[in-house]
Amino acid sequence: MILVSSCLAGLKVRYNGTHSLEEKIGKLVEENKAVPVCPELLGGLATPREPTEIIGGSGEDVLEGKAKVIDKAGNDVTEFFVKGAYATLEIAQTYNAIIVVLKENSPSCGSSSIYNGEFSGEKIAGNGVTSALLKRNGIQVMSEEQFVNSFF
Ligand code: SF4
Repeated sequence: MILVSSCLAGLKVRYNGTHSLEEKIGKLVEENKAVPVCPELLGGLATPREPTEIIGGSGEDVLEGKAKVIDKAGNDVTEFFVKGAYATLEIAQTYNAIIVVLKENSPSCGSSSIYNGEFSGEKIAGNGVTSALLKRNGIQVMSEEQFVNSFF
């Protein structure tokens, strides 16, 4: 079994109430070949919500308490992101997931690129909080683009 970001499966769970459907991933969920997860909802946040970025580092730094996740209104939402990361890890382990496909650029789900913490649209190399925790636990994390290019 694989896990995928819920928004990639077409669920309207993004901060602004939209989805990021990748049709091939949506089809896998429809066929019960993939399980959708949204770390931010698992962590206790709701849709819609303020956009968020990691300030002062990457997902690894957040897990180590060296960086924070802040929403655009200035609220510290770090604890929701850490909780959601651990909840996603538990689901991945329950399903013995070998591959987890997560939405690139998200402060939770990005696996090679995230926004730089200035809400300016600029990106930097790095993992989101959930991707960092999954990788730390030996689970392969791929972006939607890497997954589609590798398997379709
Ligand atoms: Fe999609 Fe991940 Fe953001 Fe949820 S946390 S909306 S799954 S990118």
